[in-house]
Amino acid sequence: MSHVKHLTCLICGKTYQPDQVQYICPDHGAEGILDVVYDYETIAESLSPQSLASDQDPTIWRYKPLLPVDADAPTPPLTVGGTPLYATPRLARHLGLKQVWLKDDGREPTASFKDRASAVALVKAQEVGAEIITTASTGNAAAALAGLAASIGFPAVIFVPASAPQAKIAQLLTFGATVMLVDGSYDDAFDLCLQAADAYGWYNRNTGYNPYMSEGKKTVSYEICEQLDWNTPDVVFVSVGDGCIIGGVYKGFYDLLQLGWIDRMPRIIGVQAQGSNFLAQAWEKGEDVLTKAPITAHTVADSISAGLPRDRLKAMRAVVESGGAFVTVSDEEILTAIPELAQLTGVFAEPAGAAAYAGLRQAVRSGLVSPEDRIVVINTGNGLKDVASAMQAAEMTGAAPHFIAPTLEAVRRAIGD
Ligand SMILES: *Cc1c(COP(=O)(O)O)cnc(C)c1O
Ligand SMILES: [Zn+2]
Repeated sequence: MSHVKHLTCLICGKTYQPDQVQYICPDHGAEGILDVVYDYETIAESLSPQSLASDQDPTIWRYKPLLPVDADAPTPPLTVGGTPLYATPRLARHLGLKQVWLKDDGREPTASFKDRASAVALVKAQEVGAEIITTASTGNAAAALAGLAASIGFPAVIFVPASAPQAKIAQLLTFGATVMLVDGSYDDAFDLCLQAADAYGWYNRNTGYNPYMSEGKKTVSYEICEQLDWNTPDVVFVSVGDGCIIGGVYKGFYDLLQLGWIDRMPRIIGVQAQGSNFLAQAWEKGEDVLTKAPITAHTVADSISAGLPRDRLKAMRAVVESGGAFVTVSDEEILTAIPELAQLTGVFAEPAGAAAYAGLRQAVRSGLVSPEDRIVVINTGNGLKDVASAMQAAEMTGAAPHFIAPTLEAVRRAIGD
């Protein structure tokens, strides 16, 4: 048995037992996103900061009582979670801040944050006896699902826009997934995947549709608090596309507050690309995200390109309830953030990961954070996912190799000796 009490619709507040509905509140079609509600009293009987301190398991499964899975459910063997939280004194000094940490989820098994959710999806798919699992994705959720599926020999069918970066498509093919390269946007791929899952009875991992994905993603907040000895950070920066990660970040801190393991919620700052700013627009103008029309999304940060953020209710809740904000950054700011972050920390991020750092840079300029704040920046994806963008960023900052003859004389000239 899991410790899930029920699922609550974020629109109408109706509650369901987990076996009553599979993904969404039937009253609102694909919009009826459900929140998973737990019985914290019974969770506290089997889990505490002390029990965690002596648990050797570094993966997200160390928090199994807080996850929507049965205690004895088989879990994929890959090491999902347990990523490093680096103190970054040089970066902090560079921005005139006291304390900044970088949570590096580029270090997940398939090199993005999405592994946290896909691991949970595979447990749930097995639980309901599904034979095939599917998702649409801008690339990383797909790679995560394909990799975790491969780790247990589970067939996966993946829908990605044909424009997805090569490295991500290479991951899908290498892991042996059936790959549908959709001639259209991520939003088109998403709608098609929902139809296909329905038509063929495939288990549906889609973000902002499957209620359990933000549950996997919330483990990042547990890790951050554990790694900071339960001293909650003041501010967390995370990039936002569909809004599932930021919703999960909020949920993780929320759970810990309910358990009384932390005493306050950090302000959660969602960073969007200027060309994919649906949520930032809605937040600034006070628009209802359910009725707001989709926008046309264009950004170099493919992982956060979403014209209609599928998890927008949870994303908006995360920012509003935590007293946070949405900020937007231009593609140029995102690209220049890649080498800057890399040179200040040694961490190579893909554009959507570096966007969170670009958001921090901007928040310092605008006074959204103060020098005393204890700040965590989440890198959501590894830079090797999108080498073309990294090369473009290097060019923009004037970094270039020296083309030299194989002689010491040529080296001497290159270093200006
Ligand atoms: C998916 C993704 C995001 C955004 O997550 P959402 O849940 O879509 O908001 C950010 N960065 C990377 C690298 C991602 O893969
Ligand atoms: Zn409802």
